[in-house]
Parts: sequence; C-alpha cells; structure tokens
Amino acid sequence: MNARKKALVKIAERNETYQDITTPYKVDENYGSDSFGIKTLEDYLSKPIYRRLLETIKKGVPLDQAVADDVAHAMKIWAMNRGATHYTHWFMPLTGSSAEKHDSFLDPTPDGKAITRFSGKNLILGEPDASSFPSGGLRSTFEARGYTAWDPTSPAFIKRVGGAATLCIPTIFCSYTGEVLDKKTPLLRSIQVLGFQAKRLLRCFGIEEESKAEATLGAEQEYFLIDKNFYLLRPDIMQTGRTLFGAPPQKHQQLEDHYFGSIPPRIMNFMAEVDRELWRLGIPAKTRHNEVAPAQFEIAPVFEELNLATDHNMMVMEVLRNVADKHGFVCLLHEKPFAGINGSGKHNNWSLSVGDRNLLNPGNNPHENAIFLTTLCAVIQAVDKHADILRSATAGAGNDHRLGANEAPPAIISIFLGEQLTDIIDQIEKGSVSHSKNSKSLVIGVDALPPLPRDVTDRNRTSPFAFTGNKFEFRAAGSSHSCAGPNIMLNTIVAEAFDEIATQLEKLKPSEFHKGLQKILQNIVKKHRRVIFNGNGYSPAWEIEAKKRGLPNLRSTPEALKPLIDKKNIELFEKYGVFSSGETKSRYEVFMEEYVKKISIETSLTLSISKTTILPSALKYLDRLAETSGKLAATGVKNSALTSKIKLISILIEKLCQANDALEVLIKNNESTEKRIDAMNAVRATADKLETEVDDDLWELPKYSEMLFIY
Ligand code: ADP
Ligand code: MG
Repeated sequence: MNARKKALVKIAERNETYQDITTPYKVDENYGSDSFGIKTLEDYLSKPIYRRLLETIKKGVPLDQAVADDVAHAMKIWAMNRGATHYTHWFMPLTGSSAEKHDSFLDPTPDGKAITRFSGKNLILGEPDASSFPSGGLRSTFEARGYTAWDPTSPAFIKRVGGAATLCIPTIFCSYTGEVLDKKTPLLRSIQVLGFQAKRLLRCFGIEEESKAEATLGAEQEYFLIDKNFYLLRPDIMQTGRTLFGAPPQKHQQLEDHYFGSIPPRIMNFMAEVDRELWRLGIPAKTRHNEVAPAQFEIAPVFEELNLATDHNMMVMEVLRNVADKHGFVCLLHEKPFAGINGSGKHNNWSLSVGDRNLLNPGNNPHENAIFLTTLCAVIQAVDKHADILRSATAGAGNDHRLGANEAPPAIISIFLGEQLTDIIDQIEKGSVSHSKNSKSLVIGVDALPPLPRDVTDRNRTSPFAFTGNKFEFRAAGSSHSCAGPNIMLNTIVAEAFDEIATQLEKLKPSEFHKGLQKILQNIVKKHRRVIFNGNGYSPAWEIEAKKRGLPNLRSTPEALKPLIDKKNIELFEKYGVFSSGETKSRYEVFMEEYVKKISIETSLTLSISKTTILPSALKYLDRLAETSGKLAATGVKNSALTSKIKLISILIEKLCQANDALEVLIKNNESTEKRIDAMNAVRATADKLETEVDDDLWELPKYSEMLFIY
C-alpha cells in the first residue's frame, strides 16, 4: 500500500466521539477572560490611573512613565495569575505574519533566589534585532536596531500555545531612525488622518463631535480545512500553501450543495473550539458556516474599531491554524489552494463613525442624508481616483489566482451601489440647483431620501467593492493578507476626498451651503460615476466595457504593485503623513521581492515534484503495462487497446520530461517570472493528465477528490 492509501486508511479508522454539551457554556462570562481589556483594566488599576489610561485609549492623550509603570505592574499580576510566565511585544513586520520574541518575568537576585519584574519601560519599549525582517532597503544590516512601542489602544492578551501562556503586548515596529518597518504604524496614521478629516467635514455641516472618529472593520475570513494525513503527503501545500498539481475531481462545487450546508461533526467540533478560543481572547466571533467550495468555510466577527479588528484578524488566522492542528486538520489560508474551484477572500467590511453617527448610514432626515450622500460621494471619488492603489493592496502571488478568475471579484476595481442608490446618484448628477417643486432631482440637504432597503443592496457577489446598507465591503482582499494594507489605502484615499470636499465647503457662506454642496457632489458624480457598476463583474463583457470607461485592469502582482511608486501616489501618502516617500518605496521593494521569491519557490518545487514523484509513478505504470503486454504477446494474443494505452502513457511521459527540461532551463537562467509561470503551468497540465490515466494504486499525491471530501 502506498503512503496515500495508508493515509486514507488512517482517516477511515479515526473514531471520533464528541461530548454532548448539557451544561450551559457561559459565553458572556468567558468572553475576554484572557484579554487585558477595559473591564479588566478597571478591576486591576486604581481609579486615577484607570482614568488616565482611558484618556489615552479613547482620546489619544500621550501617556507618561508613572502611568506606564502602574499599568505594567497590574498587567504582570493579571497575566501571572492566569498562568503566564513570559511576555512579548507582538508586532506586524512586513512579512505579513505577526512576530514575537518572549522574555520571562524572572529576575534572579544575588542570594540565588528570584523575583518577577515587568516595568513600565518593558511595557512601552522593546528593542528586537531588526536585521532579519524585510525593510526594503530602509535599514542596512549594520544598523540592526529596531524598536517596538506599545499600542495602548489594542488590549494585551494571553496566548496559549503548546501548554505555554504568554502575555502579548500589541506594538508598532520601527527602525532606529524612525522609519516604519511594520503594518500597524501606517494603519494608525491613516486612521488618525481619516478621523481628522471626517471631523472637519462634519464641522462644515455644523456638527462638533467631542469623541474620536472611528473607522470600523468587520473582516469575514474564508479558509479551507484538509486532513493532516493528506497534508503531510503534499509538499506543495506544505511549502507554498497551495496545490501545484491535481486533476479536477468529477464532483466539485457544481451541485452547490456545500454552501450553508449542515456542518459535519468533525468540522463542528473544530469550529466550536475556535469560537471558544476567540471569545477567551475577547474576539467577538459571531458567524460560522460552510462556504461555496467543498472543504471551504467562513468565520466572521462582529465589527470593531479598525486597528483592533486588524489585530484580531491576525489572531483569528493564528487560532484557526493552531486549533486545526490540534484536531488533525490543516487550515489553509491561501487565496487559491485548489485550482478550478472557489478561492478564499477576506471580505473587508469598512465604515466610519463619529460618536453615535455612522457616516455611511442613510439617515432619517434631509440633514443626515446630506452627510450620508457626501460621504458616499467621497468614497466614489476616492475609489475611482485611486483604484490603482486599492488594487495594489490586494496584490500577491496567491491572490493572482483569484482576482479575475471566474468566481472572485475581478482585478478591475468598481463600485456596486444597487439600483436605488444608483438612481439617487443619477438625480444628483442631473443636479437640481433650483428649488422648484416640480424638479425631479433631489436637492441635497432639503429633500429626504426614500428609505433604502438594507439587505437587497448586498446581493451582487461579483463586485469587488459593494455598498451593503451601512458600510462598504471590499471583497478583493486576500484571505491570507493582513487587513492593514487594504485599510491603510482606503483610509488615506477617503481622507483625501474629505479634505477636498471640506476645503470647498469651508469657503461657502451659510446661505450658499445647500446650493454649493449640491454642485460639489454633482461634479464628483459627473467625474467619477464611471466607477459605478451594478452588473455582473465576472462577465467578459464587463472587461471590455471597463476598458472603454478607462478603468485600470491590473491582472498580476507586478502590474498591481507598480502604482505604489507612481509619483502621484508617493505624494499622496506623504501629504497625509501615512508613508514617507522612502517608506512607500521600501514597501514596493519588499512586496515585489516577496512575490518573486514565492514564484521561485513554486517553480522549483513544481520541477522537483514532477521529477521525483510524478514521473516515477508514471514510469512504474508504463513498466506494468509493458510487462503485461509482453506476457500477452508471449501467449500470442494481440491487444490493440493495450498498445494504444502504452503509446499514450509513453507520449505523456515524454511530454512531461520535455516540460520539466524547459522549466529547468528557465529556472537556471533566472528568466522572468511570467515565463517561469507559463512553464510551470505546462508541467502541471501534463502531470494532471497523467493523474487521470495512471493506475490509482501507483499515484502518490493525495487527489483533489480525497482532500476536498474526506474529513
Ligand atoms: P455577508 O456574508 O452577507 O457579507 P456578514 O453578516 O457575514 O454578511 O458580514 C458582515 C460583516 O460586516 C460582519 O463582520 C459585521 O460585523 C460587519 N459590519 C456590520 N456593520 C459594520 C460597520 N458599521 N462597520 C464595519 N463592519 C460592519
Ligand atoms: Mg460578505
């Protein structure tokens, strides 16, 4: 029996029993028990210190050393009470994962004993060696120092992995000279500038808000689960996160019987533990269901403040992976683990609130509607003007297989508004500057909007950027990506639009306000309505239409990353203080390098698997056929079917060897990624054909029909 068949037996022999829960599980009581959130702060800190810290968290008031010392002490007591022995600054380098280096609380004393120590300084500042993190040329290796600095707006939490409990402190990460080396710092900067411009815009409408403007995010996370026994036999999944080989199974998702289907017991057991883990960490896991592809699932939290939600999504990905491992699964977060069926995205539900007011919520009166329509037009302008940077935030070797493939949103960025809202936009475009009663057009700030149905606006799944009632859902983001990238871009471009609109509004006399606003929004709609598209984003006709409209269609990662280093975009980030020009350029370098490295790994692994696993299986089969044929011939029987089969396998083997050789030459000569990808695809095409011809007993790699359906 080959290893693949043994894996099948192992899975079949699993005899899982599940505990029936008959006692109540107190979700509310367990929620946040391992998070040093506001409620815990209140319990552990003295009133004055608690109040001071709250000022920092809610209003961004700078923190002083004395407060930090008290907070650190409280944090240490709390964490040690909950079993932690170590702490770590937890940060987001440009690798796309989170990073941590643990220090114990232990401090030995001269008498051979020990005390525990964790000071305000330990809490606020860390100094990890930065030399092995990507910096895109910002930090030369001789100046290896990097700094991590506490982000008090994201609560510390206790991570429990492999029996160890570690206090994790969310931090930013920058170089000795202050350039940022992480994803959190620019996110915080972009949140700040968006908030500033939002409050300025509201002031034009006569609204003074005390509280901080808050961008919000609900990140729906899609993922695949496969049995670990299969994973261990798939070096491609292990090293690249996706299958580099695999013939399509006869049944995949065409019956549409998986989506929202009943959740199988072993998966349910996994999901239940994921939810409990997330609740413990204070992450508001809410929704769980089967997704479209077989073995594909989704988890969605209740939305939170954007910076927090971004940290939480990093933890969601980690918890998914760790809990999967415990349950004998592997969780695949790659955007396209399996060719030919749906890939995974991360639907980025984004909105903006000031006080109790969600600016993307259509209001109940003309004044509120005017704010809503202004925000809406600002987003339309931002997305049209900067579709290229939004696209760049979704670039990556994995997402290249998804964007533009027939089930995912296309690489063309457009906005879905739904019929009713588009009708309102049409009226704004026609523009009614007169107040005459019989004018059909809407007068902003005077007329009321018809009530907009919240749910029906949402049902276009083909749009990369859809208005869904009180928020925008950016669906092009990749399932493996940090939420930081897309939201840094979104915040910055909307901040610019707010800035431009506010600058015009501020010049208006009160008596001119409505007329002036109407004109401003009319101009925006006229100039940018080409980005609105309510039709089928998957259809080839849209590609042609989008081209006519002049919308960019950046298909591959190298194309999509280019706009990052356009002068206009470098200037935009600089103007709003999100990235210095050096920081933008360094990011381009890092992401391009990551792409090229990933393609190099994929191409050389394809070659290796093809030569060492697939070719030997095919040769064994050919040998078997030839032997049978020889034996038959000895008995005088002629079998033309067998002869043609031998010919077919022999031809396929020859083709495979040629494709291998071609790929090998390209790799040796370090040819362009495009050429290597084409050659890699040619190897796969022949290998997949062989999979459908070769004796099943001789095929070593677990098949799609097994990985996607056996759990
Ligand atoms: P669907 O699958 O139909 O897109 P879900 O209910 O699964 O919808 O996901 C919607 C996501 O949007 C949830 O995470 C939800 O918390 C989030 N959301 C709702 N309101 C807002 C808001 N104002 N800002 C950001 N996210 C929001
Ligand atoms: Mg969604």
